[in-house]
Amino acid sequence: MSNMLTIVKTTNPKSKPPQNQLGFGKHFSDHMFIMDFDLENGWHSPRIVPYAPIQLDPAAMTLHYSQTVFEGLKAYRTEDGRILLFRPEQNLERLNQSNTRISIPPIPEKDVLEYLKQLIATDHDWVPAAEGTSLYIRPFIIATEPNLRVSPANTYKFLIILSPVGSYYPEGIHPVGIHIEEEYTRAVRGGTGTAKTGGNYSASYKAQEKASAHGQSQVLWLDGVEKKYIEEVGSMNVFFKINGEIVTPALNGSILPGITRKSIIEMLHDWGMPVAERRISIDELCQAYKENTLEEAFGTGTAAVISPIGEFAYNGEQMIINERKTGGLSKKLYDTLTGIQTGKLNDPYGWTIE
Ligand code: PMP
Repeated sequence: MSNMLTIVKTTNPKSKPPQNQLGFGKHFSDHMFIMDFDLENGWHSPRIVPYAPIQLDPAAMTLHYSQTVFEGLKAYRTEDGRILLFRPEQNLERLNQSNTRISIPPIPEKDVLEYLKQLIATDHDWVPAAEGTSLYIRPFIIATEPNLRVSPANTYKFLIILSPVGSYYPEGIHPVGIHIEEEYTRAVRGGTGTAKTGGNYSASYKAQEKASAHGQSQVLWLDGVEKKYIEEVGSMNVFFKINGEIVTPALNGSILPGITRKSIIEMLHDWGMPVAERRISIDELCQAYKENTLEEAFGTGTAAVISPIGEFAYNGEQMIINERKTGGLSKKLYDTLTGIQTGKLNDPYGWTIE
């Protein structure tokens, strides 16, 4: 079995969607990466091939017991036409942490980073250049063994697909409303919340339906045991500025360790504004609101980078934050991080790679 990357190029390139109508995750580039795992050969046969449907046995274990993990990261086009990846080694490291939790064999991170670079080089003209656009990268692993026993599969496929995506904020960064969820739980300690595995996301749809029905755009998740401590917001980590102090929930075993979260903590530390990683109760948040010390709140993640929060709805009450305006800290973090990601600002941390 070979571990040399092979490349088969499409003879039938697709036409590209207009850059002002990309949306999220609807369009896919001309090529994809695949490699296989079996017990005898480990991960093998890395290849870049034309983007196409894959064949799966109806008994493939991923379809039955959700033995699957994924990642999400972006490639950005700079003003002078280069392509930058933002901390991709962090995503591959996290993919392996997810693998460990879901009993999937680890991928060779260094090799996969090279394969990823080759895939992007092959589809370089799919990295959009319009303001706010990027190429979303979706690595994922599925258990392919056809068997209905409830235990880890013996065969897997690792794929990477690429999707040009539009600006998250076509009208500029703006605050969203958040529904505080008291019934449904996203994750518990000892569960799978720290892993990027499909089931976590389908399990969140019900609460999201409630948020939408209440006219709010995202869910704020509380801990699953006491329903007292703040965990995450939608598919983002969450930060608050309370009375001058910047706080975010500590990684407690049920929160996904976001790479944007980590980068923001490192940046703020560098700016002399340390972030307290600790437990934050919903009561503390309500109290801060009453005392007028809840200055800013925002979510962080690859998709939106920074998503300012303008309103919380809790127990039939409304908390309006910073008059529903984007706060100074949110704006500065957004401008700095997107500036580094797109090469507009100098990258003092060495986070971007070409
Ligand atoms: N929490 C959850 C549940 C997520 O799915 C994501 C997106 N990966 C995040 C937080 C933010 O992580 P990142 O900053 O690495 O995108």
